[in-house]
Amino acid sequence: MTRIKFMNTEVDNLSMYEALEKIDNLIQIKKSSYVVTPNVDHIVQLENDSELQEVYKNANLILTDGKPLIWISNYYKTPIKEKVSGSDLFPLLCQMAEKKGYKMFFLGAAEGVAMRAATNLKKRYSNLEVTGVYSPPLGFEKDEEEVEKIIQMIIKSDVDILIVGLGAPKQEKFIFKYHNKLKVPISLGLGASLDFEAGNVKRAPKWMQKSGLEWLFRITQDPRRMFKRYVIDDIKIVKLVGKYKAKNET
Ligand code: UDP
Repeated sequence: MTRIKFMNTEVDNLSMYEALEKIDNLIQIKKSSYVVTPNVDHIVQLENDSELQEVYKNANLILTDGKPLIWISNYYKTPIKEKVSGSDLFPLLCQMAEKKGYKMFFLGAAEGVAMRAATNLKKRYSNLEVTGVYSPPLGFEKDEEEVEKIIQMIIKSDVDILIVGLGAPKQEKFIFKYHNKLKVPISLGLGASLDFEAGNVKRAPKWMQKSGLEWLFRITQDPRRMFKRYVIDDIKIVKLVGKYKAKNET
């Protein structure tokens, strides 16, 4: 069993390579599976969001996105073996899709961004089939007609992998609500990964990613939004670390 208890969720204790293998297996069994990638921000949101808790409980794969959660797991003496962040996973998934002939759909990000991400990725993986891209207008999730249009678009594309970049928890809730209807073998909520691949948002340099400072870099890129997220909201993680340590010990 790869699944271990971690704070207010469970996680699959897998390396990047093992995670890719597992995703490949899930694609082959064709059962509308989905992946979540908890980071500090998700853990903080999970604490009080019962709908998100439901999404997490039913996820087929839970991958640890971000060094700070790895540090916390070490502190708890139940180490998680590797950071498997969505943005690192994304190009590797495209590589796998190219090799195995899996078709992909990119949903999310600002207008034109999903398309640009697809164009850039196809330059690197020339046989990659991105058979659909769509960046929906802001607030689309409240518009039933728009949601239905998106669902039909994805169903018609007949893809194996759906990448959703709508930010958390919107992307996770969207996937949970519609995955049975969409019947895509695997869906993943990958946040800003489409922006990174499109090149309109810069990703932190490798040394910052490795040393757990990616959040600091993101603050420098979008100070107002990211300061609120990573400093004001996510400081709550400190209290949660204590809370779940105490729970582990009782
Ligand atoms: N986004 C979107 N529709 C929405 C809300 C967000 O397409 O209604 C996109 C936004 O343009 C960005 C991504 O969702 O491309 C979320 O980025 P965020 O920085 O929140 O991702 P994370 O930090 O979780 O990777």
